[in-house]
Amino acid sequence: MSTPTNPLFKRITLIGIGLIGSSLARVIKRDGLAEHICVSTRSEETLNKAIELGLCDSATLDQAEAVKDADLIIICTPLGTYSKVAETIGSHIKPGAIVSDVGSAKKCVFREIAPHLPEGVHLVPGHPVAGTENSGPESGFAELFLDRYFILTPDKDTDQDAVDRVKGLWQAAGMRIETMDADHHDQVLAITSHLPQLIAYSIVDTATQVGDDLQKEIFQYSAGGFRDFTRIAASDPVMWRDIFVENREAVLDILNRFDEDLTALKRAIRQGDGEKLQDVFTRTRSARRGIIEANQHLPEDQKV
Ligand code: NAP
Repeated sequence: MSTPTNPLFKRITLIGIGLIGSSLARVIKRDGLAEHICVSTRSEETLNKAIELGLCDSATLDQAEAVKDADLIIICTPLGTYSKVAETIGSHIKPGAIVSDVGSAKKCVFREIAPHLPEGVHLVPGHPVAGTENSGPESGFAELFLDRYFILTPDKDTDQDAVDRVKGLWQAAGMRIETMDADHHDQVLAITSHLPQLIAYSIVDTATQVGDDLQKEIFQYSAGGFRDFTRIAASDPVMWRDIFVENREAVLDILNRFDEDLTALKRAIRQGDGEKLQDVFTRTRSARRGIIEANQHLPEDQKV
């Protein structure tokens, strides 16, 4: 066990140790950000992997046991598990402790977790906007969060000291911190993350169902754009199922808008309206420049 060099917390418990949980555990271990890190997960296989990878000081399948005495508990499981996890751990959390999460939608945290927390426990929801299409503890890496944004979505009554302590942890992981309303977070992420993901799922599904004759060529000539969609569409189906279920309102709003814009593009193609097409494609080119200027253009595994 490494000696903590810079502990921000005495005891941190991570519920879930997949891509995000294990990447955070690696940062906490590397920089000694907790005196003790406890991990709990669903399966014995993942628990053993976490121990083998040296991601924790203690590990248990018993979530209630895991949160006892923890100062900070971070839920790193799919959104669909939130209610059950919170119900299991709620009455075992000590007063004054902080409960946070890393989920990709935020309004549901108040719906699913808050009702199960006792008085005196602080709920500080958050979302590290960083990821890859891979899952599980082996896929994590400490640099995942470097220079990416961490969005905090506390309620207006949340204890400021608790918010600052969660902020400090993610800053230590190299993240830039933003704070916003959960509703606003869900609208923004519906555009920047959830819609592109749905489009990738839809394109790949369409392309792979065009019939056996074309199948070979689809994979052979995938460098023509399809390849990038297949990478995105290879993401964890359970995680994404839960995101679309939990953030359905914001996703449906942006899908309606997207539908209209796609219909307009379809019309321009049908009418041979090259000017309209060129206008749109010129606008989209400048969006890419904006992402490069914000230094958010490289995939997570190519940043370092
Ligand atoms: P992951 O690699 O698939 O790991 C999921 C973890 O949750 C595993 O430890 C798994 O345990 C555990 N788990 C799954 N179902 C469970 C259940 N019913 N009860 C208890 N534990 C359960 O997932 P991830 O990519 O780290 O994502 C975790 C969270 O981060 C999600 O809420 C997601 O929205 C958010 N997020 C993901 C990304 C991304 O790019 N992946 C980015 C930002 C935020 P076992 O392995 O033992 O079954």
